[in-house]
Amino acid sequence: MNQASDPSGNESPATAKAAELQLQQQVILKKIGRARIRLLVCCWTLPVYIIGIWILLGNGRGIDTFMFVYIALSAGFALDMSLRRCPRCRQQFFVKSILLNLISRRCVHCGVAIPAGNRGSASLDQGEQN
Ligand SMILES: [Zn+2]
Repeated sequence: MNQASDPSGNESPATAKAAELQLQQQVILKKIGRARIRLLVCCWTLPVYIIGIWILLGNGRGIDTFMFVYIALSAGFALDMSLRRCPRCRQQFFVKSILLNLISRRCVHCGVAIPAGNRGSASLDQGEQN
């Protein structure tokens, strides 16, 4: 019998649990990826923000609310991102020492990568730790 990928459920509990763990890890990594994209979008919209302030000032309107919302959003996203933990090594995914590594698509501690796109085929084939 070929036991490689039998969906009809004759897997041992250990295998099933390992698969579930890996699935959870994928879900967490995707969330981390989305948190990263949110903050990147915030950075990319900085010119729009500056133009917006320019226009508001030109119209003689107050910019307090606009500034506050933008800064609060950015700070919120940055905080959310910095608090994300790697599903494999349980360390902060983007934070090593003080710097937040925005560019990284990998855990700065163990190197596990954020999966590209929404397909389930992620690269978890890094060298296993332990
Ligand atoms: Zn890690």
